[in-house]
Amino acid sequence: MREELVKRIAASSPDSRGDALTSSIETDLVHLGRAPARYAGAINIPPHRTSTVAFDTVRELEAAKRARFEKGTVFYGRFGGPDIFAFEDAVAALEGADSAVAVPSGLAACILPVAAFARTGDHILVVDNVYEPARTSLTEYFAGNGVEISYFDPLVGEEIDALIRPSTKLIYLESPGSFTFEVMDIPAICEVARKRGVITVCDNTWATPLYYQPLRHGVDIVVHAGTKYIIGHSDAMLGIVAARDEHAQALKRAANWLGYHASPDNVYLAARGLRTLALRMAAHQANGLALATYLAGRPEIARVLHPALPGCPGHAIWKRDFFGSSGLFSVVLRTTEKANAERFVEGLNLFGLGFSWGGFESLVLIGDPAHSRTATPWREEGIVVRFHAGLENLSDLVSDVEQSLEAHLST
Ligand SMILES: *Cc1c(COP(=O)(O)O)cnc(C)c1O
Repeated sequence: MREELVKRIAASSPDSRGDALTSSIETDLVHLGRAPARYAGAINIPPHRTSTVAFDTVRELEAAKRARFEKGTVFYGRFGGPDIFAFEDAVAALEGADSAVAVPSGLAACILPVAAFARTGDHILVVDNVYEPARTSLTEYFAGNGVEISYFDPLVGEEIDALIRPSTKLIYLESPGSFTFEVMDIPAICEVARKRGVITVCDNTWATPLYYQPLRHGVDIVVHAGTKYIIGHSDAMLGIVAARDEHAQALKRAANWLGYHASPDNVYLAARGLRTLALRMAAHQANGLALATYLAGRPEIARVLHPALPGCPGHAIWKRDFFGSSGLFSVVLRTTEKANAERFVEGLNLFGLGFSWGGFESLVLIGDPAHSRTATPWREEGIVVRFHAGLENLSDLVSDVEQSLEAHLST
């Protein structure tokens, strides 16, 4: 199985480090967070739907209340149950963290570390290509409540040192950015942050723990939209935040202050998603690379932004740090007319038009990086189109893209 996966990854991407996958990650994905002996033989832990937890004695109830933030304590539904704890521990193990907390959505995961660690008067540094709704939460909510926010170039390395102020509490990273795909020099940034006593947070949704493990590169806290590849079927929402003991308690307490509760049904779907993650990712990777390579050879395309292909900012860093690539990438069209891009995406038959990604199906979206950045001007003139390569047959996907390019973009 591992050899098979490694071969598939190597075949689909000569540059990827499939050979560097930790030896047992596929086995971990299948076995972590399951306990058939404790659940009447059920292979996956059934969803544990509960609000009230009933105790036999006042002493037990009071002991549970005192221990409510400790790992594994069942106290009240909002604090989680055995199914949620098992999923959290599985993700923590995959990320090399000590513990994790499941939250209601990916966006809830993005903002939890900020809620946990930033106070009025603190400053946080945020990468300029950050997931746009996270940027909106930071500017509309946190900045409005006295947290100072500044944005920085995704291609910064140790020069981040000059941007750190005495009040800087946290650096928020996302690598690669999920619309423009710059790959960040996370180890260089984290080394500086550690010296300056600043907490680092990294959104790892694009790569999943299979292809990148930020904590092993110096990051303190990793966040995921489980909604994407982990759930993998576009039918539920979930977020997850993983960290070492040093930060775990504060995150768990902040999740409680905010009233977060991850639905046991969604956690069940996420735990089930882990079982097939390695196979799905290998297939998304292969289709994504092939589609991006095809597009790179088309005259209607000015530029392809795919971390595993040369020409993507940070490609060398991707090669150094990542084990593989997912199915999400962008292209810059030659056309600067939005109407042409609209006709092209609407002319696709197999690519759904909508937000999110990471499910089994192919998707497409028109982006607007020029208007979502403030620290680094976007210099490309052509319209940016983002693709998610799903699990369909590759030649069907290529033919579909070809027919719409020829019908709507070729001159
Ligand atoms: C989708 C996404 C999120 C947010 O996840 P939701 O579950 O939709 O709230 C966060 N970060 C990245 C990179 C994403 O793509």
